[in-house]
Amino acid sequence: MTDTTAPALTPPTRPATPPATPPATPVVARTRDELREARSALDDGDVAVVMTMGALHEGHATLIHQARQAHRHVVVTIFLNPLQFGPKEDLSRYPRTFDADLEICTAAGVDLVFAPTPDVIYPDGDPGVRVSAGPLGDVLEGQARPGHFDGMLTVVGKLMHLTRCSAAYFGQKDAQQLLLIRRMCRDLDFPVRVVAVPTVREPDGLAMSSRNTYLTASDRETALCLSAALRAGAEAAPEGPSAVRRAARAVLVREPLALVDYLVLVHPDTLEDVPEWYRGEALLAVAGRVGTTRLIDNLPVLVGPGGGALETFTQA
Ligand code: AMP
Repeated sequence: MTDTTAPALTPPTRPATPPATPPATPVVARTRDELREARSALDDGDVAVVMTMGALHEGHATLIHQARQAHRHVVVTIFLNPLQFGPKEDLSRYPRTFDADLEICTAAGVDLVFAPTPDVIYPDGDPGVRVSAGPLGDVLEGQARPGHFDGMLTVVGKLMHLTRCSAAYFGQKDAQQLLLIRRMCRDLDFPVRVVAVPTVREPDGLAMSSRNTYLTASDRETALCLSAALRAGAEAAPEGPSAVRRAARAVLVREPLALVDYLVLVHPDTLEDVPEWYRGEALLAVAGRVGTTRLIDNLPVLVGPGGGALETFTQA
């Protein structure tokens, strides 16, 4: 007799790897009430924040990944802070790419994105009371951008309060900003651990920046002299400070289309030029205009025997 019954039922074979569940889109909060509600849902663990102005790139993503690895929850803020832009700066043309930013946050496992407008952050208009960066905010970037660091610290302080974070991740790319945020947290007793993340670069050395989108193809070629100068300076680190400055300057003078604002080798805590006898960690920093775009870059270096480039400074 022919067996016409259906073949014996075998349990369906499981795929070798279960289908990946797509990462959940972060909650997006735009108002203080929305933030309060979404933030209270994260009260079961420590919260790290990554503060950004949007137009996210791999540099931002790296900050988020590092925060993700060390903390239960990650909040990303996306806020173009008018307080830290001068009247002649690029606030109006700054790239705004919210949808793409949200995709990056989703892929990186962010829990909450806080993306307020200026009236949410400054409901009474310009704040009469601001955080003062003090003398460290008047040099280097502060000299080129008066008031920038007071505006930056004011919003960073507000966002630390609003997000109730226990840690905040910032890029070494903005070395003076990082130093001032550390100082603010220490001097004003913010209970927040500030974590520095090394600068993320394009394969050719250009430091990633949202402002790189302003560069034309030839600007971009020109801009490479900044990171090349830093590398050359770091290579001369074993020979001492003047050798570092000389080597870096030699690269910059070969590129007349880069209008250098400053090239300095300074102490990482005081931002004062290190003297010739100095041996130890120092910040080699450069700023300049390429086309219509102002770019900054820096390398932490160890000056003296066995010296060279460092990823970040050893002090916390
Ligand atoms: P921004 O959106 O430019 O204000 O940057 C937000 C944060 O990302 C700051 O802490 C920056 O220092 C950091 N960041 C920006 N570019 C880079 C980069 N290329 N590598 C590492 N961190 C970066």
